[in-house]
Amino acid sequence: MAKIIDGKKIAAEIRNNLKEEILGLSKKIGRGPCLAAIWVGEYQASNTYIKAKARACEEIGMHFRLYHLQEDISLSEILSLIKKLNEDSEVDGILVQLPLPPHLEKNRIIEVISPKKDVDGFHPYNLGRLMVGEPTFIPCTPAGILEILRQEDIPTEGAEVVILGRSDIVGKPLANLLLQKKIANATVTICHTGTKDLYLHTRRADILIVATGKPKMIGKDMIKEGTIIIDVGIHRLPEGLCGDVDFLDVKEKAAAITPVPGGVGPMTVAMLLKNTVKAYKQNFHIQYDNEDL
Ligand code: NDP
Repeated sequence: MAKIIDGKKIAAEIRNNLKEEILGLSKKIGRGPCLAAIWVGEYQASNTYIKAKARACEEIGMHFRLYHLQEDISLSEILSLIKKLNEDSEVDGILVQLPLPPHLEKNRIIEVISPKKDVDGFHPYNLGRLMVGEPTFIPCTPAGILEILRQEDIPTEGAEVVILGRSDIVGKPLANLLLQKKIANATVTICHTGTKDLYLHTRRADILIVATGKPKMIGKDMIKEGTIIIDVGIHRLPEGLCGDVDFLDVKEKAAAITPVPGGVGPMTVAMLLKNTVKAYKQNFHIQYDNEDL
């Protein structure tokens, strides 16, 4: 029976530590950290994520400013809002909730966010730094997964890590981090829809990380005995929430697994808070204890 990795608990601890830190710092500085979120349109899942982020900020004494914009907002309007927020000394972090409506090209927008306020870690400057082994803001989901591996004492040194999915926000940055010598030193394989024999790769994984956006696509026939599974996916099905992994099917065969909900999701939010506190401290020239990287 697999150990169920309690991402909710790990995330709660991180949030508590941040809360204490903010309490101390805001007395010294005169204000707490502030995260500005831009949400365009009415996409329902985004509404849920925005609410969760707002609640998480509030709970730790972080100010959350929401800019909810009309679906038909023009590129130039959104860019000028971002430029204003870049200049706003009361704002430490800026995020743009994805996905955006089709007329707004994600990359054109993200590259206008100041890299110093890019708490999602999606700006090419921050991704470039990550790539050369000098990470600043690490994208929140990969950062959350690294933290899970650390907290659970899952050895990555020389491990065969197989990642399903090559998105810019999960698969690619995560693969890069895991292969870095001083971070994980793993042997990393990334699979995608062009992968010829998915089973060949998934069945030799010591650690299998699944971020495909395909509900329950991984069953026990696709893993080896004792694999550690990190399930990034999240889907709202009529019977409830599920991940990209068929939890009930694999749970006897895997050594450990992150559940959905309560696995990677809460860690992503915790890492967003952590990145925002980092931006806040950098803003006030307070040394950030970059202990883990
Ligand atoms: P994307 O849709 O951007 O990317 C999905 C990736 O999976 C693509 O690279 C795609 O390949 C690959 N893929 C899809 N189907 C298959 C398949 N059958 N076999 C192999 N590879 C496949 O997704 P995201 O990375 O944004 O998100 C993935 C999942 O994680 C979603 O369910 C999302 O909701 C969830 N998510 C959860 C977060 C959390 O905090 N828990 C945070 C972010 C995402 P190709 O490139 O060839 O198309």
